[in-house]
Amino acid sequence: MATLDIRSLTKSFGDTRVIKGVDLRVEDHEFCVFLGPSGCGKSTLLRLIAGLEEATSGEILLDGKPITDLPPARRNLAMVFQSYALYPHMTVRQNMSFALDLAKVEPSVIEEKVRRTARILELEPLLDRKPAALSGGQRQRVAIGRAIVREPRIFLFDEPLSNLDASLRAQMRLEIARLHQEFKATMIYVTHDQVEAMTLADKVVLFNGGNIEQRGSPQELYHHPVNRFVAGFLGTPQ
Ligand code: ADP
Ligand code: MG
Repeated sequence: MATLDIRSLTKSFGDTRVIKGVDLRVEDHEFCVFLGPSGCGKSTLLRLIAGLEEATSGEILLDGKPITDLPPARRNLAMVFQSYALYPHMTVRQNMSFALDLAKVEPSVIEEKVRRTARILELEPLLDRKPAALSGGQRQRVAIGRAIVREPRIFLFDEPLSNLDASLRAQMRLEIARLHQEFKATMIYVTHDQVEAMTLADKVVLFNGGNIEQRGSPQELYHHPVNRFVAGFLGTPQ
């Protein structure tokens, strides 16, 4: 069964239609990458899935149930942003436990989850620091850790590595691939970077101007592009 089922989804801002009728399924445990040039609608689609934008028309189902009208907090999805969006006045530990505190999870359970996640992400020595005292890579790991402790149905990543330098980006790419393996998580990962898409994805969904041009495995898109746009974007030899 598909985890996420998007049906005829559209989104307009004023008179401008930026998502033009998207149909898409994301399967359980799949690493799905939304790829495409800047402005093609990747973030908007991710925000529609997260409930941070309201769809103009169409439907989104999670495990067969419509979530289109649910508020973000009730969708059981966790989003990791490019800007990290950590709370600056809170420690790493508080940043990671905040959502569980709000949900009134038992403190001992929270402590255990935070500790386990911090161990996996090698954040244990940093739990009492505030974000200002962390490097970019460490902040990004906290942002990912904060999502993990919530055990969401799907992880949504919006260009999480684009603020990092090239070597750290390569290292974090491996880290994210390892997380996907370890947690058997379902992930939707937005990027405009072909290399990131090709190395991480089970399924690449290539967007252009609010439409899907092609979807499939990285190999399928690279070796069998359906049109010039896909070939050009992926650098397929002509
Ligand atoms: P991407 O993430 O692929 O770069 P976006 O989803 O951010 O693209 O944007 C798609 C289009 O929608 C762009 O033309 C952008 O200017 C427009 N857009 C995004 N958010 C808004 C908004 N809140 N109001 C008006 N236009 C928007
Ligand atoms: Mg974007």
